[in-house]
Amino acid sequence: MPDIANALTVDVEDYFQVSALAPHIARADWERMPCRVERNMDTLLSLFAETGAQATFFTLGWIAERYPGLVRRIVAEGHELASHGYAHQKITDQAPADFLADIRRAKAVLEDVSGNAIRGYRAPSFSIGEGNLWAFDCIGDAGYRYSSSVYPIRHDHYGMPGAPRFPFRPRDGLLEIPVSTARILGTNIPAAGGGYFRLLPYCVSRSLLYKVNRGEERAAVFYIHPWELDPDQPRVAGTSVKTRFRHYLNLHRTRPRLKRLLRDFTWSSIENVFLNRKQEQTTFSRQSWPVDQNGGASRIIFP
Ligand SMILES: [Zn+2]
Repeated sequence: MPDIANALTVDVEDYFQVSALAPHIARADWERMPCRVERNMDTLLSLFAETGAQATFFTLGWIAERYPGLVRRIVAEGHELASHGYAHQKITDQAPADFLADIRRAKAVLEDVSGNAIRGYRAPSFSIGEGNLWAFDCIGDAGYRYSSSVYPIRHDHYGMPGAPRFPFRPRDGLLEIPVSTARILGTNIPAAGGGYFRLLPYCVSRSLLYKVNRGEERAAVFYIHPWELDPDQPRVAGTSVKTRFRHYLNLHRTRPRLKRLLRDFTWSSIENVFLNRKQEQTTFSRQSWPVDQNGGASRIIFP
């Protein structure tokens, strides 16, 4: 086991709130969908308790309003509560004023329900890219101290391939903590979980994280969703082959894989790994972000 604590993060949303399924499920229909987030969160929280892992839970305001008991359980079990926005709209689909209102609302709901100050935010679908860097100003203005919204890879739905791979300050008072990539042959390879964790054999995910921990001596940031541990979730009709592949692939494998991952590494919250300890941070001005032209970033597209 590498002698370094990594940040374990969960995006708390239900299966019907995923961005890739948004074209097939109207927001107005959310109220009518059978919710599975509580039982799936019970699976995750039990697994974390069993293995002694601590995590940061980026929770939707929409979920917190409907499941206040779940939010209080997250806090009572020693985890960090953070914000995933209110209504899970990608920042790329929002005007700055609407985005600011959404993340302020989520922060207020989460603070009301939990009684805790909320310091962290994660954008739906890592939707901060070169085209909407104004989002960092909104996140800071809303009172968050850090964001974990950048995925420095090339992907058809998200990613900022030229962004720094490790924590940096996009503006005064705000720390961005990108999710993890491993650097192989000059390319950023996704190493942070999600669909790649279900797609790739476990030993590949493990060796990518080892590379970050041992090769670069840096803490990694890994993410997972409650619905990824739920093979029995209702199938959403009308989706493309690609979307079905991404969303439903290997759901039955997630739980045993995650259990191995929790045992093979040390896991804690973002607060504990990056905020409560002195960490090396890169100071980057926006102008100095490298533009991806010569293989500086991943060419990998999720299949
Ligand atoms: Zn999400």
